[in-house]
Amino acid sequence: MALREIITPENPVLRKKAFKVTNFNDPKLQTLIDDMVETMLDAPGVGLAAPQVAVSQRVITVRLSDDEESQKEYGDQAGVLYVVINPEIIRTSDEMVEGYEACLSIPGYYGNVSRHSAVTVRGHDRHGKQIRIKAQGWLARVFQHEIDHLDGVLFIDRAKEIWRVAEREDEDDEQVFAREDEEKPASEAAE
Ligand SMILES: [Zn+2]
Repeated sequence: MALREIITPENPVLRKKAFKVTNFNDPKLQTLIDDMVETMLDAPGVGLAAPQVAVSQRVITVRLSDDEESQKEYGDQAGVLYVVINPEIIRTSDEMVEGYEACLSIPGYYGNVSRHSAVTVRGHDRHGKQIRIKAQGWLARVFQHEIDHLDGVLFIDRAKEIWRVAEREDEDDEQVFAREDEEKPASEAAE
């Protein structure tokens, strides 16, 4: 496994529609997945899409933190690693919720984005087996954010407002969020 470089919008791969994976036996795919997981955990982030490491393939990894606070809030979802290949959102709630998002590819910014409060995602696991995931709340938001990446869409395209994370050393990200956030601080939520 190896860490990969996370690209920013200067690299055009981030804005391309990614290709469907067709060969699940390709050892390069397995290496890509291992590297994406390592890169996501190292960042740290709660999700990563292959285009963010400059690979134009429809692969995402998602993992909500498993620290105590996260376990309290997300229960069984905390700490579960999802690897989804060729993911598709096949069902969405009518209900939309606004929440804060950040992105590992757009460091230093966050924004408020309206997302479906629940989605059902269909795709394949890393061995090609078909899987289906029902996600709600924060997990649903992360899946929508990551699947957007596969179509070259970034949260800044959808955000109602975008802010810069405060850079003052005595004011960390979390404090910025504590003032106006009712959901998860983006400092822990970069995707
Ligand atoms: Zn992102």
